[in-house]
Amino acid sequence: MTTSNRLLQVQIAIVVFLALVLIWAVVFYELDRSKQGFLREAEVKTSIQSQLFSEFSRSTIKRVNELILDIRTQWTGDWKSFSTLIQRRQENIDDLTFQVTVIDKDGIMLFSNLAKPTVHTDLSQRMHFLVHKEAGNADHLYISQPLLGKVSGKWSIQFTRPILKNGKFNGVLVVSVSPDLFSKFAEKLGVGNDGTATMLRSTGDFMARYPTSSFTAQAGIPKDRPFLKDNSPTSGNFRALAAVDGVERVYGYYKLSQFGLVFVVGESINNILVPYYEYRSLVLEVASVVSLFAVLLFFMLLRSLTTLEKVRGDLHLAKDRAELSNIAKSQFLANMSHEIRTPMNGVLGMAQLLLETKLDDEQRQFTRDILVSGESLLAIINDILDLSKIEADRMEYDLHPFAVKDLADAVNSLLKIKANEKGIGLYLNIAPDAAANFIGDSLRIRQVLLNLAGNAVKFTERGEVSINIMRKTNGLRFEVNDTGIGIPAEAREKLFSNFSQVDASTTRKFGGTGLGLAISKRLIEGMGGSIGVNSADNKGSSFWFELPLEMATGQDIVNNSILSKSAMTLPVQQEAGAEEESTIKQKDPSPASTPVLSSEDTPPHLLLVEDNKINQKLALALLGKLGFSVDTAENGLEAITATNNNHYDLILMDMQMPEMGGIEATRHIRTQDGSNAHTPIVALTANAMESDHQACRDAGMDDFLTKPINREKLIACLARWVDHPPTISSS
Ligand code: ADP
Repeated sequence: MTTSNRLLQVQIAIVVFLALVLIWAVVFYELDRSKQGFLREAEVKTSIQSQLFSEFSRSTIKRVNELILDIRTQWTGDWKSFSTLIQRRQENIDDLTFQVTVIDKDGIMLFSNLAKPTVHTDLSQRMHFLVHKEAGNADHLYISQPLLGKVSGKWSIQFTRPILKNGKFNGVLVVSVSPDLFSKFAEKLGVGNDGTATMLRSTGDFMARYPTSSFTAQAGIPKDRPFLKDNSPTSGNFRALAAVDGVERVYGYYKLSQFGLVFVVGESINNILVPYYEYRSLVLEVASVVSLFAVLLFFMLLRSLTTLEKVRGDLHLAKDRAELSNIAKSQFLANMSHEIRTPMNGVLGMAQLLLETKLDDEQRQFTRDILVSGESLLAIINDILDLSKIEADRMEYDLHPFAVKDLADAVNSLLKIKANEKGIGLYLNIAPDAAANFIGDSLRIRQVLLNLAGNAVKFTERGEVSINIMRKTNGLRFEVNDTGIGIPAEAREKLFSNFSQVDASTTRKFGGTGLGLAISKRLIEGMGGSIGVNSADNKGSSFWFELPLEMATGQDIVNNSILSKSAMTLPVQQEAGAEEESTIKQKDPSPASTPVLSSEDTPPHLLLVEDNKINQKLALALLGKLGFSVDTAENGLEAITATNNNHYDLILMDMQMPEMGGIEATRHIRTQDGSNAHTPIVALTANAMESDHQACRDAGMDDFLTKPINREKLIACLARWVDHPPTISSS
């Protein structure tokens, strides 16, 4: 598992964890909010219920008071009138009271509608008698605590007023009301399971209570409850654990201060929260499902991450394999072209030598054909080498100042002969502001321009080809227009791919490998530019490329000595392997094409180290003809022996040989302090890569010639390194 993936997993785990925390925080917040909502609702409800209870009680007390006042006014003092009064009001008072009693000034029951007139119960110690007796002539309504009636044997609340005779206390009129009257109303309030509705004296004593089952007259609620205090508000709410039954309730209360009564309605919290509990279990279920889903998603994500990583790993592996096989292919192509170059050296060199012998016209033509075919083959090999270098990412660009005009003239003059032969016009137009010196790899630019212009001449039978060079803001634009066969639209896209030709007949009619444009595209893109084509069938083509190029300053030109770049004048076939032209260091910078060299009596003595018999023969023939005396060695070991025994003016050293290669042999010669320690050593190599050249330099070689050996280049090289070469002609 990669670090970035592990990091991603940790990040996902954190996100999932935070999401879970958030979900549950919201759930608990919401549950608490809804719980408080239900409790607040219960507070409002119990407040209203307690007020209703008090209203009912107030009107009941009022009616009882009116009844007492009415009887007291109407009563004349004897039992008969008392019973008549009661009987007359029977219908009205049935719902209020079950007993009306008269007590005389000594506390003895005078009359009761429930007792025989002969029964005289002593009530002198009852609170409702004593209150009035002690009050003297003060007239007020007294409401007692529930008492177990001596006459009725029932619990009752006594509503009493004094009977005054001539302004003096003369007894008490009692109306007994059952506490059930109040508790029945309380029942109708609908206080729910475990709910209570209680009528209390402001001392905390019970007057009436629903449910009646838990009622005992002596019981009350703790006296220190805040709402019982005198200064507490008339109505309000509180929550408490009931002293009577231990149930926790929400209470609403309402005070009737004029009668010293408080009405308290309580709803059990358990009952209030029934709908909340249902809601809570639903919310918890949903939250659990969501959490489970989040965790599941997390594990699924983990799994896909692992799978993704595996797929990515497989892709990497496949890519690495593809790249390896691509490198192997490029290596193979490079090796192949190297292997082909060696025998090609023999074919071309021998054909060249043959041309210099006595031949009849037919033989001369055949030999020329061999030479031309060989050179075409070499051009193809160079193309393949270029492509393999590009594909292996080993293409190196040599930036130096160059003159646009020189570059274009070289291309123009190379194609002029062919254009003339075909009878088509070849025109070169350089915009005045483009005819300057720029910094770039002129050999590669020229290679591309030559390819485009060469194609234009090749595929044009009538009309003309024009090369146009213009200035762009940050470089140059090259255009090659022709009036040739054109390119169909569908073929244009793949034109720049390897081995692509418009159709197979092209190869048969015009020749070519289909590599030129592919190489051109990669070279141009490698130099940071772009390349393209506009064409219409039968109406000719217009190929173009644009390159970002900086203008060269005067100092650049002096430093790089543009004129010494002999590459501008080389023939077409020697173009592609650009390194062929490079020189390690120059002892004498005289131009390579100098045709005549001075002569000496003793010919310079050379050592040729070469294992390939034909190439040896060829080099010997070339050098012999040039007037050099040459020793040969077949490998590095033989070369060391030869240098131990003789002094040489120059050593031509092949690189790849059996027993010991050129690099190792050179190192030996340079380190042995013999007479050849400073003799110029020139590599003869079919390896055209820059890295090979670097290896030669590192081993102590001075210069190199690329196989197949080109006669002119050999002469130029000898002229550079041999002090007094024999007089020779390059032709
Ligand atoms: P080659 O010319 O060696 O086959 P190129 O890559 O240079 O390879 O060109 C590929 C193909 O593009 C040619 O074979 C030809 O079919 C087509 N082509 C290129 N230039 C032109 C042109 N100026 N006019 C018509 N067809 C062209």
